[in-house]
Amino acid sequence: TACLKKIEQTEKKINAFITLRNEEELLEQAKQLDSEGYDPQKPLWGIPIGIKDVFTTKGIKTTCGSKILENFVPVYDAEVVTRLKEAGAIILGKQNMDEFAMGSSTENSAFGPTKNPWDISRVPGGSSGGSAASVAAKQCFAAIGTDTGGSIRQPACFCGLVGVKPTYGRVSRYGLIAYGSSFDQAGPLTKTIKDAALILNVIAGHDPKDSTSLRAPVPDYLAQIKHTSLKGVSFGIPKEYFQKGLDQEVENSILKLIDILKQEGAEIKEISLPHTEYAIATYYILVMAEASSNLARFDGVRYGFRAKQANNLKEMYELSRTYGFGDEVQRRIMLGTYVLSAGYYDAYYKKAAQVRRILRKDFDMALQKCDYILAPVSPTPAFKLGEHSHDPLKMYLTDIYTISLNLVGLPGISLPIEVGKLSGLPLGIQLIGKWLTEEKLFQVAFNIE
Ligand code: GLN
Repeated sequence: TACLKKIEQTEKKINAFITLRNEEELLEQAKQLDSEGYDPQKPLWGIPIGIKDVFTTKGIKTTCGSKILENFVPVYDAEVVTRLKEAGAIILGKQNMDEFAMGSSTENSAFGPTKNPWDISRVPGGSSGGSAASVAAKQCFAAIGTDTGGSIRQPACFCGLVGVKPTYGRVSRYGLIAYGSSFDQAGPLTKTIKDAALILNVIAGHDPKDSTSLRAPVPDYLAQIKHTSLKGVSFGIPKEYFQKGLDQEVENSILKLIDILKQEGAEIKEISLPHTEYAIATYYILVMAEASSNLARFDGVRYGFRAKQANNLKEMYELSRTYGFGDEVQRRIMLGTYVLSAGYYDAYYKKAAQVRRILRKDFDMALQKCDYILAPVSPTPAFKLGEHSHDPLKMYLTDIYTISLNLVGLPGISLPIEVGKLSGLPLGIQLIGKWLTEEKLFQVAFNIE
């Protein structure tokens, strides 16, 4: 009831949901749970949770923020959704996002932009901006987003939340509508580290329906969180991340945190990620190539929107895709197709795939020198709506601190640290750990939190 009330109060201003489930149905479900009584087997018993509209939900419209899927109702639940339901969660509805998760501001949605509850003239970040805004506005207690190049961590940072991008393969991608399949990873957006750990407990773990899902056991993330000293814990600060383009307020807040960590006995080391300057180009070549292939299935025949004015099959494909996809999606399909085409493949796609390996080595070397990497999440706090939306390249450049992690598959947490005195906006940091060490990341983040 409290969540529904908050939704009523805030939704018109922030536009966090694309589809909200029927109120009576939701209350009915809550009543049902009440009458059954608390079930300790269900760790999310009765907790209202929002889902980014990129996950299929049985019987609930799933749009991916796109006109091409405007009336698509899936016949099955994504694995993440199945696990949440089995854990007793109440799925409130489907949250706004950049179309097909392409963007960093939630301005590329066919259903209008989402606004940041801290300041509605600003973006909530993206692409999981609806999810972040919703949790920040207290419409729900947690949300599930996806992170292909920062889409959980950056909106979490812009909205003052905790956002977790697990190790690639930690959470099943079954029913997650693919953007860049070798990058996509689902994870929680929450108010606290403990909430994030609780959600990851539920959604992590092997799924035979996703061939890239890892067979590694899932530790109890929540149970392992304890107050411990940071004495002797080493944090690596990548020197390449503190050069041009980093906002002064963001930089100062990180320097302040570094001082506190030092006082608590942590070891702060300068490290190097020497190929950082190639990360943006590498990411965008590879992710667009994968996107162009993944989005070939939206042809007006199988799902959602179909242009009516076509005279033949080819025209039907063309017109459905022309009117169904927004500008950013079309730009990426064209660039992605280009880098995969004969004659250009070697120069772009293959090169980028090679650089991806080099970046992996950078991170492996860096993480031999420290326990965690501490980095900014975004060069600036939440920017104004419209500030970057007419310049795609400028928008891509804002992803500099988040995309590398998806290129190399490692886990990362975005953690709020303070509200900027100058901007009045939340500021955050990013903690990066070794392969499958989410439990350690939670632990150290909790002691920083
Ligand atoms: N901003 C990045 C992009 O547009 C990342 C998006 C994401 O993580 N889904 O590709």
